[in-house]
Amino acid sequence: MNLILLGPPGAGKGTQAKRLEEKYGLDQLSTGDMLRAECKSGSELGRKAQAIMDQGHLVPDEIMIDLIAARIDQHAGQGFILDGFPRTVPQAVALDDMLAKKGLKLDHVIELTVDEPALIDRLAGRFTCAKCGTSYHDHYRRTKVEGVCDVCGSHHFIRRADDKPEAVKTRLAAYRQQTAPILPYYRQKGILRQVDGMADIDDVTRAIEKVIRGP
Ligand code: AMP
Repeated sequence: MNLILLGPPGAGKGTQAKRLEEKYGLDQLSTGDMLRAECKSGSELGRKAQAIMDQGHLVPDEIMIDLIAARIDQHAGQGFILDGFPRTVPQAVALDDMLAKKGLKLDHVIELTVDEPALIDRLAGRFTCAKCGTSYHDHYRRTKVEGVCDVCGSHHFIRRADDKPEAVKTRLAAYRQQTAPILPYYRQKGILRQVDGMADIDDVTRAIEKVIRGP
């Protein structure tokens, strides 16, 4: 089974993708995570991408298409969940070509719908454990013990540079202008489903599972 999770930054794509990965044995393919790993490694691609990402703009399509093609080839699970890709119509078209050549298809495209002011609040408060990657939030999901990761006990946490208010505004504008036009593309193919991304995390997971199980 191959899925796309669509939705603006902060809609909960990453959180839900991790849950589906565990439950269905799928590989989460997050282009944001791939780019952050490139930045951390200091590769040429990482250096090029870093400034673009920090400002909240989109990395050029050619780079993203090559990056995802390599990862789709390597995926080892029962299928994959694309989280953060495609983000433009040319990326969606390239993905279709890529999958057709590999004899693969998309089963579901799930849009997490959200309310924009709530997103800004969600993004501004989020942070992750630097060691194990568990996600937290200043208001909605605090650590049980102040400053200590619930899962691995680490004391080190990171906040993304692009979660600062200026970059968040640019990222939301990029979603509206460059990513939202993908929705009619998938609606036309009859594989787009909407799930309320503002519901409780467990309810969102249940709603996604309902889409996956089918009518
Ligand atoms: P994310 O972690 O999905 O919010 O992605 C973080 C940043 O990585 C985005 O704001 C973009 O700068 C870049 N990025 C991730 N995926 C893509 C993509 N498919 N196309 C262009 N830029 C991307």
